[in-house]
Amino acid sequence: MTFQSLGLIEALLKAVRLQGYETPSPIQQKAIPPILEGLDVLASAQTGTGKTAGFTLPMLQILSKNPVPHRRPVRALVLTPTRELADQVFTNVKHYSKFLDLRAAVIFGGVNQNPQIKHLRNGVDVLVATPGRLLDLENQGHLSLSKVEIFVLDEADRMLDMGFKRDIDKIRSLIPSRRQNLMFSATFSREIKSLAQTILQRPTLVEATPENTTVEAIAQQIYRVAKEKKTNLLIKLIQDGQWQQVLVFTRTKHGANNLCKKLESARISAMAIHGNKSQGARTRALAGFK
Ligand code: AMP
Repeated sequence: MTFQSLGLIEALLKAVRLQGYETPSPIQQKAIPPILEGLDVLASAQTGTGKTAGFTLPMLQILSKNPVPHRRPVRALVLTPTRELADQVFTNVKHYSKFLDLRAAVIFGGVNQNPQIKHLRNGVDVLVATPGRLLDLENQGHLSLSKVEIFVLDEADRMLDMGFKRDIDKIRSLIPSRRQNLMFSATFSREIKSLAQTILQRPTLVEATPENTTVEAIAQQIYRVAKEKKTNLLIKLIQDGQWQQVLVFTRTKHGANNLCKKLESARISAMAIHGNKSQGARTRALAGFK
């Protein structure tokens, strides 16, 4: 299977080659053809499967097939739950649209809105956004969603977990009812299925991984350990294994800060990232991690 055999145009094939991709991943093989046909798609796919290219490539192809309207209204809207994911998707869009006459922008909260407004004023074909800032700017009259042709919900399960249901409903009321919808989610709870029913029309189901499973390429181990020994165990594992890049999830923001301090005292450089941190601190932590 090649990207060419999926029906992608040369400008996209060139961009994909530039990224060094040789063959389409399973989710790309399954999602790209129906999206190119203009169908609604409901896909179960986790991060790391290549899902972003799975919806971005055909989306860009559809947009590029129609002439670019004079004032470049937003024709494709991609919603993501977090600022970091929005930025990541935006970077992908930029890479893949390198040889196309399409403009993209990303908007998210926590940073000055003025540069974002300036971008919007110049006209964008593809807008990647988190729900809150999108609604803010729409409310202030800085953007219109009345010409959206393709609506993408990325990581829909996380959107619901983060309480974005009402925002999504509001955004849905601002975009045309005739449009193509794409929804990606790693898990399929009852809530996700019901959200899918309100958004998608007779969707094609695409599954790259079995329902509700974890990524196969990751080896998993469980350590049963008393609560007060958890931090010391973590420190030992990091030191013994000489781990260079470690992502630790904690239940609470406070727990993340605490753990960070303890790691630092063990001379393991660490930074916390959570909702109480400013966007600047979050960006710095991520950049340091990368
Ligand atoms: P995603 O699941 O969209 O977050 O993508 C995970 C990573 O896989 C990203 O770094 C992509 O650049 C990369 N990727 C996407 N599609 C392919 C492909 N067909 N071949 C190799 N790498 C890919």
